[in-house]
Amino acid sequence: MNEIRREPLLGRWVAVLSESMKPEDYLSETGFPEEGHCQLCHEESGEPVEIYSVRDDSGKWLVKVVPAMVPVFSPEGDLGRKGIGIYDKMNAIGVNEMLIESPQHGVPPEDLGAEQMLRVVETFSARMLELEKDARIRHIMLHKNCGSPSGDTYGHPHSLITATPVIPKRVKEELDGAKLYYEYKERCIFCDIMREEERLKDRVVLESPHFVVFCPYAARFPFEFWILPRRHNCSFRDVTGEEMAGLAETLTVMFKKLRRLLKNPPYNYVLHTAPSRIPRRNHWHTLGEDFHWHIEVMPRIRSIGSFELGSGMYTLTTSPEDAAKYLKEVSHGD
Ligand SMILES: [Zn+2]
Ligand SMILES: [Zn+2]
Ligand SMILES: [Zn+2]
Repeated sequence: MNEIRREPLLGRWVAVLSESMKPEDYLSETGFPEEGHCQLCHEESGEPVEIYSVRDDSGKWLVKVVPAMVPVFSPEGDLGRKGIGIYDKMNAIGVNEMLIESPQHGVPPEDLGAEQMLRVVETFSARMLELEKDARIRHIMLHKNCGSPSGDTYGHPHSLITATPVIPKRVKEELDGAKLYYEYKERCIFCDIMREEERLKDRVVLESPHFVVFCPYAARFPFEFWILPRRHNCSFRDVTGEEMAGLAETLTVMFKKLRRLLKNPPYNYVLHTAPSRIPRRNHWHTLGEDFHWHIEVMPRIRSIGSFELGSGMYTLTTSPEDAAKYLKEVSHGD
């Protein structure tokens, strides 16, 4: 079984595969498979095994969730927490699922149409509600790699669901930051940021009845933007039907803008939501008030250099104000 190890200095968890890839495994750069050879296209063949699907009246699948092809986390077994000398580790218990967003190969997610995008968003919600029932799971992340070199190896529209037995460091840092701000101001930092951005206007890209899209004041990546629901709500599990439809529409518009502006850039996005299974009485007692679910979209148009790697400090080669202006002005029409 794969394991996760805690880096003792920073407290960051990393997953280590029990079967190491060989040096030559890293050398074969294959690119995206052709349509006829794509594993995600094969419908109804029994492989890959279906976990969940949305089907049309004739029974044909429209959205399907399958186990990830190379899962890092395994749903079987116990956590097996262990200390080895000064080091901590545990079994990589968790879930890696792949959400196939369309039976059609190679269709960009923004061309799926709002109705299909809504099925994708509804499937996210359905899987999150289901996975949260597992008491070993502490956090569920919905995320996406699109285009090379984002980590995408399929060229078929899909997104990923990763459920982990620990709260990943990046999420923990956000939770801690939000909690600290709430202790001081008794307000949600995300609601405050959203209010401030709407007041200033110069980093806002899109305002809709349920969502605000803006380039964060101190983003890490050029053209990075965040999608925040207007309604304060710490967890995506409590999203409403209207919000899901609004999100599907917002994602479609924003990815069309990104495509037109940056000529089909690779990007990643993550949906950050409150962790599950946290005893609210203790350390996280204000979680419902202090955290606010959101999506961060990170175009991968510039590679990370030595300074970024060594310092964790990023250089923005396009300011968030300029990026917002470009994103706002570019049309999302076809
Ligand atoms: Zn395919
Ligand atoms: Zn809020
Ligand atoms: Zn976040």
